[in-house]
Amino acid sequence: MISVETIESEPKNNKIAFMLKGANAAFANALRRAVLEEVPTMAIEDIEFRKNSSVLYDEIIAHRMGLIPLTTDLETYNMPSECKCKGEGCASCQAKLTLDVEGPATVYASDLKSKDPKIKPAFPGMPIVKLLKGQRLELEATAILGTGKQHSKWAPGHIYYKQREILKAGNLKNPDAIVKACPEGVFEIKAGKLTANETLLLKYDLAGTVEDVSNGEARLEATGDYIFRLESFGQLSCTEIMEKAAERLEAQFNEFEKLIKQ
Ligand SMILES: [Zn+2]
Repeated sequence: MISVETIESEPKNNKIAFMLKGANAAFANALRRAVLEEVPTMAIEDIEFRKNSSVLYDEIIAHRMGLIPLTTDLETYNMPSECKCKGEGCASCQAKLTLDVEGPATVYASDLKSKDPKIKPAFPGMPIVKLLKGQRLELEATAILGTGKQHSKWAPGHIYYKQREILKAGNLKNPDAIVKACPEGVFEIKAGKLTANETLLLKYDLAGTVEDVSNGEARLEATGDYIFRLESFGQLSCTEIMEKAAERLEAQFNEFEKLIKQ
């Protein structure tokens, strides 16, 4: 049986850490890849420049704007390929944002005015370009849903995992050396024996240090549990990302099952 335990949750910082138990490396990696490549988010795909007398070319500004994370509403919008307009573009698969700033000023992501209040820059303070007196940037941008598989601008966040480790140590000659070489509190000596603080141990990668300092007498052994850390880029919450990733994985398996039965 697979189970999931939350280790840390910081919704304000768009971060979460959880432990996956009862799975294997193949499943853990499939989940990681589903998050990076399958979860759709909104990003700017097309820009119509009406006026650009800034120092940056249209292409550079377009590239920068494509990378601005936009808050995403997965309920209202369809992927262009799955939309009833068959990818031609309509209100169900596109969000329009306009920008019009005259210098002297710094153009920020917050200057993008969205027609849909649910689709807006996740970090308003991101600078786009500096304008001098008399310079002007005016444009209309079109945002669509896409996935990290198409372009990394649509990736919903950064995710990685490692195996949970447990301490294996016999009677060490110098257990104090390990305590001193590692971050405070991770290891302690209790009744002459080296012990590890399980919760703190999850935060660090100390296998090499422990082995080196103890000349191989102590080591951290990998278990079958996986510690995942996910940081959202701001388009979706961490929970939404994980839910969508699981949904996509399930859909792929169902599709595969259908193909086998044919
Ligand atoms: Zn459409």
